[in-house]
Amino acid sequence: MQVEYIIVGFGLAGMAISKELEDHGHSFVVLDNASQVSSRVAAGVFNPVILKRFTPVWNADEQLDNLFPFYKDISKRLGGQYLTFFDTLKVFKSVEDQNNWFMACDNPLLEKYMDPKIIKVEKNGITHYEGFGKVNGTGRVLVTNVLDDYIKYLKEKEQFLDIPFMHGELDIQEDSITYKNITATKIIFAEGYGLKENPFFNYLPLTGTKGEMLFIKAPDLKITEQIKSSLFVLPVGNDIYWIGATFNWTDKTLDPTEKGRKELLDKLETMIDVPYEIVNQFGGIRPTVKDRRPLVGKHPEYKNLIVFNGLGTRGVMIAPTVAKQLYQHIEHNKPLSKEIDIQRFLPNS
Ligand SMILES: Cc1cc2nc3c(=O)[nH]c(=O)nc-3n(C[C@H](O)[C@H](O)[C@H](O)COP(=O)(O)OP(=O)(O)OC[C@H]3O[C@@H](n4cnc5c(N)ncnc54)[C@H](O)[C@@H]3O)c2cc1C
Repeated sequence: MQVEYIIVGFGLAGMAISKELEDHGHSFVVLDNASQVSSRVAAGVFNPVILKRFTPVWNADEQLDNLFPFYKDISKRLGGQYLTFFDTLKVFKSVEDQNNWFMACDNPLLEKYMDPKIIKVEKNGITHYEGFGKVNGTGRVLVTNVLDDYIKYLKEKEQFLDIPFMHGELDIQEDSITYKNITATKIIFAEGYGLKENPFFNYLPLTGTKGEMLFIKAPDLKITEQIKSSLFVLPVGNDIYWIGATFNWTDKTLDPTEKGRKELLDKLETMIDVPYEIVNQFGGIRPTVKDRRPLVGKHPEYKNLIVFNGLGTRGVMIAPTVAKQLYQHIEHNKPLSKEIDIQRFLPNS
């Protein structure tokens, strides 16, 4: 098989760069072995405001501007609907929280997203302290649905293989690479935390942060918004709520843990006061980076080896914008912005 690109990994990063290549008429094949699940366990929420600190998300405006057309195009291509919109309500635990909210509302970067009114309405089942602050422009991508539909679409065109990529078997020439029976001009690694097994790029400071979540069934919890306090509570239909998430920097396994469940339940007890049952628990490793910015660019020695990683805790918002930049970089030599270019980290040897 002869293609222009091999893509290793089909999470949010692999999907975004596949779309970009397809939009521009390039041939490619994707290899994925389902060894990482970050995108598949992600709630898929996009929210331009960091509610822990009341600060704007990095490049939020540009990322949202790219996110909506990106999924509109994908819907046209695949036929499904992958975006849902809802308000996000931040729980105020104190008058000080309210004051911080008012101050943040004056920030020109945040004013269009943060509603300055305090919402005093009772929410069935939510312990709400001093009311809520509302963030506009939030919603979620149905990530598993879009990945599944995209994979089906690529399989029909014989562009997707359910196989592991074994780095030791890659043959690198000056202007091409060969992997088993596939010859390509370039290879893009979009492996999420799987990057740790990649001898070409594992010098990069990908830390990886495990996140665990719960699905609960709570028929008496009648909310339609995402509620955000020490956790988020997100309605997904049929009385099911997504509860998340934990942040663990030492455990690099995908398995759900007792510790994770306890942490989630302890926090949940302070947020809701209605009965519920646990339906499921799952975990994944976010591809987080020391400086919280993506890891994108060409290998310092082998220019036809490319990495697209480090989407961290916000892959949904970041992936479409960064995929565009990466495409312009590899096909038209446009410089990457310094904050995402892997040139900021040099290999030790
Ligand atoms: C619990 C949790 C909740 C989250 N919630 C949100 C959220 O609400 N909003 C948000 O924006 N972000 C969220 N995130 C973060 C988001 O999931 C990540 O930023 C994003 O999924 C990373 O995408 P990725 O494609 O880089 O990695 P991944 O999704 O991990 O994809 C990597 C792919 O590469 C494949 N792969 C790896 N190695 C190989 C190999 N050698 N051969 C073949 N295939 C390989 C894997 O199988 C996998 O399919 C959450 C993450 C977690 C864990």
